Amino acid sequence: MIIEKVWAREVLDSRGNPTVEAEITVSGHRITAIAPSGASTGTWEAHELRDGGKRYGGKGVLKAVENVRTEISGILTGTDPADQEAADRAMTELDGTPGKSRLGANATVAVSLAVAKAGAMAEGVPLYEHIGKGKVLPVPMFNIINGGKHAGGNLKIQECMLVPAGLPSYSECLRAASEIYMSLKNLLKKKYGPSAVNIGDEGGFAPPVNTVSEALETILEAASDAGYAPGKEIFLAMDAASSEFFENGRYDVDGMSLTAGELSDHYVSLTKEFPLVSIEDPFFEDDFETTAQLTKKIGNKVQIVGDDLFVTNTERLMRGIKEGAANALLLKVNQIGTVTESAEAAGASFENGYRVIVSHRSGESEDTSISDLSVGWGTGQIKTGAPARGERTAKYNRLLRIEEELGSAAVFPGKKAFGL
Ligand code: PEP
Ligand code: MG
Repeated sequence: MIIEKVWAREVLDSRGNPTVEAEITVSGHRITAIAPSGASTGTWEAHELRDGGKRYGGKGVLKAVENVRTEISGILTGTDPADQEAADRAMTELDGTPGKSRLGANATVAVSLAVAKAGAMAEGVPLYEHIGKGKVLPVPMFNIINGGKHAGGNLKIQECMLVPAGLPSYSECLRAASEIYMSLKNLLKKKYGPSAVNIGDEGGFAPPVNTVSEALETILEAASDAGYAPGKEIFLAMDAASSEFFENGRYDVDGMSLTAGELSDHYVSLTKEFPLVSIEDPFFEDDFETTAQLTKKIGNKVQIVGDDLFVTNTERLMRGIKEGAANALLLKVNQIGTVTESAEAAGASFENGYRVIVSHRSGESEDTSISDLSVGWGTGQIKTGAPARGERTAKYNRLLRIEEELGSAAVFPGKKAFGL
C-alpha cells in the first residue's frame, strides 16, 4: 500500500488554541493525528511553528499546515506508510534544522503519528503492535492536583500525581483513580469551599493550597476515604517543573526561597514523609549536576525523571546517562518531532537501565496515539493527566480497549515498574 495523499488542517487543542491535524489517505481511508502542545515547555524542545500576527493571538498554525500540504506531501506521497523510519528521516532531512524550526515540529509530529497509524492500518494490526512488540499495560500516573503553569493558584509544584501501582491491573488502577478523584473532590470542598474544585489544564483540581505537602497529604486522605491503602496500593509522584520557579540561582517554592542544595534536602524530606515513587525535573532544565547528586542520594528508591532536562533528545539523554543525572526519561513525541527519534530515545534509555514514561502535554486533543506507544514500546508507565476531561480520558479509555483486546496476553508490571 502507498500513501495516496498527505493533507493537514488547523483544529483546536484542549486549551482552545489552534494546532495541526495531519491527514493521510491510504486505500481511500483517511487517517488523522493531532499535534499536542506544552505550557511549561523546555528551552531545548523542537520548535513549535506559530504564525504570529493578530489571528488567534499569534498562535495560528497555518504556516505549519501549509508545510504539510506542500513540502511534506511532496516527499511522502507515493511512499510506503509501513516504513516509519524512512518517512521520519525524509521529513527531518527536508527540514534541515536541528530543532525542526523550518517546517515546525508541530507539522512533523502530526504527520509522523498519522504515518504510524496508516502503517498499522496497511498491515492490518493495531498501532501498538505496529510500532513495537510490547504487550505491557502501563501503570498510570494521574495528575489530580494541578499547580504551576497549569493552574492559577499558589502551588508552585506543577503536578501532584496518584500512582495506584499496588493494584492488580490497569483497569483496577483506573477505577481506583476515579474513586479517589471523586473523594478528593468532596474533601477539597469540605476543607476549602466550593471554588477549590475548579480544575487546571490537565483535569486535576486547583485548590488554594500553598505547599506540596498540603497537596500530597490531602491526596492520601482522599485515598484512605475511598478505601485504598497508601504505601501499599497507592503511591505518589510529582513533577516539580522547577525551571518555572527558578530565578537568579534560587528556587521560590513552598513559601521558601531555596538554593539547589536546600531544595535537594527538601525533596529528601518529602520522600521520608510520603510514599513518593517519582520526582520529575527536580532542578532547572540545565542542572545536570544537582540532578545527578539527588539521583545518587535517593535514586535507588525514588525514580528521578528528566523532562525539560532531556526533552526526548537522545544527545541530552546520553549526557545525563554519562553524568548519572536522573534514572528515567519522560517521553513526549512532540519534544523531538518524530516517532522514530522518540523510539531512539526510548531504546537508549532501556539500554542504559533508565526507565521510560510516555507522556501527554498540557495542551491535548482526542488523539490517543500515546496509549499505543506506551504499550507497544513496553514502557510500563504513562502519565496523561487526571481521570477526567475528554482529552485525558480518551487516552485512558484507549488503554481499557487495548487491555480487553490483549486479554491474558497483557502484562501489567504494577509496583515492579518502580522497582518496588
Ligand atoms: C510536563 O511538564 O510534564 C507537562 C506535561 O506539561 P507541559 O505539556 O505543559 O510541558
Ligand atoms: Mg514535566
